[in-house]
Amino acid sequence: MASIFSRIVSGEIPAAKVYEDDLTLAFMDIAPASRGHTLVICKTEYPQLLDLPPDVVAAMAQTVQRVARALMATLQPDGFNVLQNNGAAAGQTVFHYHVHIIPRWQDDKALGLWQPGESDPATLPELAAQIRANLQ
Ligand code: 5GP
Repeated sequence: MASIFSRIVSGEIPAAKVYEDDLTLAFMDIAPASRGHTLVICKTEYPQLLDLPPDVVAAMAQTVQRVARALMATLQPDGFNVLQNNGAAAGQTVFHYHVHIIPRWQDDKALGLWQPGESDPATLPELAAQIRANLQ
């Protein structure tokens, strides 16, 4: 079954659209974390980041930057978050790749991000080496 976002791409479900090109579409999030919260999706239905072909990665990055510029010009927030969830454990609820652009105002408490933890400087290089070994 087509994802809810594919149904927006096809026009079956309405959305407040901001930008569209051959590969990507941006529209307002229906349950915004802040005023102006916008989603950028790829028109083809890939579940998450690791599934994207390189041309879609590039197109998504360009659309995110373009829409973020327009959000900054329109709402003049103090900043913005670019957020992207992969997998249910990471908070993904719609399994069609998308990027959140969330305008932020000083002290708005719109998002609860992580609590900084502690790292062991002695083991970080080993962990980095393990990850490096899996780069393709
Ligand atoms: P996720 O948790 O998967 O990263 O984010 C999914 C986002 O899609 C949520 O912020 C949610 O509000 C938004 N969303 C879900 N269904 C719809 C819809 O039908 N229309 C719009 N515009 N946004 C939706």
